[in-house]
Amino acid sequence: MEVRSMHFVSRVRQRLEDPELQRNLKRTRGRNAASRAAAVAAFPDFDAVRARATEIRASVLRDLDVWLERFEQKAIERGATVLWARDGDHACELIIDIARRHGVRTVVKSKSMVSEEAGLNAALEAAGIRPVETDLGEYILQINDNEPPSHIIMPVIHKSKEQVSELFARVHGTAPKTDIEALTHEARAVLRPEFLGADMGLSGGNFLVAETGSVAIVTNEGNGRLCTTLPRVHVALTGIEKVIPTLEDLATLLRILPRSATGQAITNYVSMLTGPKQAGDADGPEHMYFVLVDGGRADLLGSEFEAMLRCIRCGACMNHCPVYQTIGGHSYGWVYPGPMGSVLTPLYQGLDKAMDLPHAATLCNQCGVVCPVSIPLPDLMRTLREKQVERGLRPWSERIATKLWAWVAARPKLYALGTRVAVRYLRWLADGRDRIQVMGVAPGWTAERDFPAPAAKTFRELYAERRRGGGQ
Ligand code: SF4
Repeated sequence: MEVRSMHFVSRVRQRLEDPELQRNLKRTRGRNAASRAAAVAAFPDFDAVRARATEIRASVLRDLDVWLERFEQKAIERGATVLWARDGDHACELIIDIARRHGVRTVVKSKSMVSEEAGLNAALEAAGIRPVETDLGEYILQINDNEPPSHIIMPVIHKSKEQVSELFARVHGTAPKTDIEALTHEARAVLRPEFLGADMGLSGGNFLVAETGSVAIVTNEGNGRLCTTLPRVHVALTGIEKVIPTLEDLATLLRILPRSATGQAITNYVSMLTGPKQAGDADGPEHMYFVLVDGGRADLLGSEFEAMLRCIRCGACMNHCPVYQTIGGHSYGWVYPGPMGSVLTPLYQGLDKAMDLPHAATLCNQCGVVCPVSIPLPDLMRTLREKQVERGLRPWSERIATKLWAWVAARPKLYALGTRVAVRYLRWLADGRDRIQVMGVAPGWTAERDFPAPAAKTFRELYAERRRGGGQ
């Protein structure tokens, strides 16, 4: 997927001025956060399981090579083929090669964010192979001119049912309908023959289990099972960080993932796929491949950003982020939106290609509080900001302003004078009220909300008065 994160500010502006998008975002705002809160409240062991999940993910990263080798050995023993991809382009080459060797013309796809990273659909089409997205949200986006997803687990959260109805009527040539069940049936009628006719199924993977050489897929739609069991060939495409040691670890993570994502105790389907069809099996693919992608992940091991590799792609951070909830996922300009995207995009695509993302946060720490594997997202964003400054990537105006601030802050008398002047100016702007409606020097702050007026005197002035015995 093309990286458009460098145009973050202008993309945000467009999204804020899009009344339909704003209506759709408002409709869903807070819904997943409320579901998660209810699920967590009903699960007394949540904090203990969260701590255990964090430890599982952290310990895997300490010995990632060992667990990957063990996974590879077990997967091969069960008849699967394991391929390693340097990056997204390499993954596309490997998958096209598999498709050609097996005479594949159509690929049915279950959800895979790594395939978005790799731009797999475009690569398959260029190779004359037809990809068909079968996750309902991804299908809607594909038939809408390959629109990118705006959320990692609810890719079409930015659209209303009326927009989907209009799209289906146009593309399917059917009568418009806004009943969600009827729309789902319509998509199912289109997709069912695709499952039956496809030569290859491609899925992502929530976890790779080293103990058994299996991939675990967590879904709420039956498409994942159809993609992985009906076609002759199954390719599981995931990042290398998805490996976990044992089935017991999987059980722990499965208790925390759906609760964090959608507030469900468990999703509709949890599929464990281990090797291709064996003699006597009723169904399953004849050939099974794992394509495990690095794509910048190995570089994070042992770095100050290693914690980011713990991510289990639940989406809780974006569901709780006031910035994401206001601007929508497309503003972030690459595969991963919200707080996790604000960290991952600069790390995978380069700090200079995502200059504003580490700043797209209020640092309220809601994301850090709800992350089921305790990733300190605000701290990581702050570290990325520091790196931008160290590398001289911030605009000259900001660099001069920061230097000026540091110079003033190191001179107590000047600092005291500056704050005294600023307080009096802000009191004058407030004009006797307790809120400032229009801030002269920075009108952007008050474009959407009022700014609280400061106290009449600075803390230093009040403190000095009190020391002299004149204060209250
Ligand atoms: S960073 Fe944490 S909260 Fe966000 S998607 Fe990853 S695991 Fe979930």
